[in-house]
Amino acid sequence: MPTSHRTDVREETHEIVVIGAGMAGLMAATTLAERDVVVLEASDRAGGRVDTVRRGDYWINVGTQFTEGTGPLIDALHRHQVPMGTLEGKSVALHLSGEQVDTSNPFALMFKSKMTWRDRFGLALVGSRILANVPFLEMSEDNRWANRVRAKLDRRRADFVLRGVSSELTHEMVRSWSGQWMGCEPEETAARQFVFSMGILLTDPEKVPNLTLPQGGNQTLTDILAEDLGDRIRLSSPVSSVRWTADGVVVDYRDADGPVRIRAYRAIVAVPADIAVRIMPGLPAEYRTALEAIRYGRYVVVGFFTHEDGVPQRWDDHLAVSTPGRSFQAIFNHAAAVRRGGVRKPGGALACFAGGGEADRLFELTDEEIVARFTADLLDVYPELEGKVDAGILRRHPRVVPFWGPGGRASLETLKHNLGPVHLAGDYQLDMPSLADAAASGEQAAQRVLASLMPN
Ligand SMILES: Cc1cc2nc3c(=O)[nH]c(=O)nc-3n(C[C@H](O)[C@H](O)[C@H](O)COP(=O)(O)OP(=O)(O)OC[C@H]3O[C@@H](n4cnc5c(N)ncnc54)[C@H](O)[C@@H]3O)c2cc1C
Repeated sequence: MPTSHRTDVREETHEIVVIGAGMAGLMAATTLAERDVVVLEASDRAGGRVDTVRRGDYWINVGTQFTEGTGPLIDALHRHQVPMGTLEGKSVALHLSGEQVDTSNPFALMFKSKMTWRDRFGLALVGSRILANVPFLEMSEDNRWANRVRAKLDRRRADFVLRGVSSELTHEMVRSWSGQWMGCEPEETAARQFVFSMGILLTDPEKVPNLTLPQGGNQTLTDILAEDLGDRIRLSSPVSSVRWTADGVVVDYRDADGPVRIRAYRAIVAVPADIAVRIMPGLPAEYRTALEAIRYGRYVVVGFFTHEDGVPQRWDDHLAVSTPGRSFQAIFNHAAAVRRGGVRKPGGALACFAGGGEADRLFELTDEEIVARFTADLLDVYPELEGKVDAGILRRHPRVVPFWGPGGRASLETLKHNLGPVHLAGDYQLDMPSLADAAASGEQAAQRVLASLMPN
């Protein structure tokens, strides 16, 4: 292999190029495994927003938190026999003024926690506005009345739930929920995705299909898919441009040895929306507009491996604990799925999250400052962890899940159509952006590519 930096362009021809080795790209490429396919990935690891750190018996998802949903993602987990840690019976809690209350019981939340009557009234109003809409979001796409409600929620801003609410605590809690579950502020997003996420997750996480924490973390599956693809994945190979004609594509990228140009019959572009706009300068205006309407939540995550004794802890029965008023808005408990009766194993794994405007402010700080703040607040919430917490593991996420401002989702339909030989894939393509949607969109793009090519 030459060691000097080459400037001449190496040229190759392949049948299909997949750009991006996140869940969408990996699922697309493994579906196309019988064909001549290469995957180009900018980073030095596959998985994209799926990222897990493992230590001993525990792991922390410092990227995608939970696996949930239906379709190719769950099928692939079963096919590869990844043990799925169930979260059945685990709930979400709120930690406020030194007390922890289960939010699946609204009565307890309103009356057991230390709140003024103004706060209780504000919270009740917000809760009723969210819960009144949830049943419509769960109804079938064929229900005309439900479609009308969905369209209305797509047109209005999520902060409608706070209209007329004067309680500062309620505002803070809504902001904290929006930050922790979507990574954005309620003023930024249309109401539909917000209402759906809050309504289901806060009251009844068991309604989320297949809400799980797969053994070894979410990265267990992306590691398996990447391994299956072997040297067909090229890491540290950022693509700078994708251009196309009626029957083929030209993809330019660079690796450690210099520039490379691949000519192919088809390409699947499986990168986040803003990057897709950047690397495809020839995008027609309607595609550009649709991609530019997609915005992303932001998160700062600090994961902590803990060393408590094998006695039950306050967080054992909760998959998430909201912590409004702290440097982070929530603690996710990644050991929740392994705590199922019997003897409690010593140690644990907690991830502290700040999203939305809070994450934007934290992005300005150094790594050390963020970890110090999160560590101090974690010990304030759970003083029993004093002296039992490893150094925090920090990740800054400028892109969490996609969301749309009011009316922005209308252009989404455009992105489901291929641009000649170029097909798009990514979590923004389907209805409620998630890891499962990324997997489904990758598989669907691959199926469309297969249908457009001559059989092998
Ligand atoms: C902290 C966090 C928590 C989350 N929690 C959940 C959750 O609990 N449940 C859930 O369902 N979803 C969750 N998500 C969202 C979920 O992770 C994403 O929806 C999903 O991983 C997106 O997959 P993707 O393949 O579409 O994109 P990505 O994972 O972003 O993959 C895109 C890939 O393209 C690569 N790339 C970028 N530019 C280039 C280029 N120029 N050339 C080549 N490659 C390039 C990137 O490096 C990346 O690997 C979370 C996300 C984050 C960040």
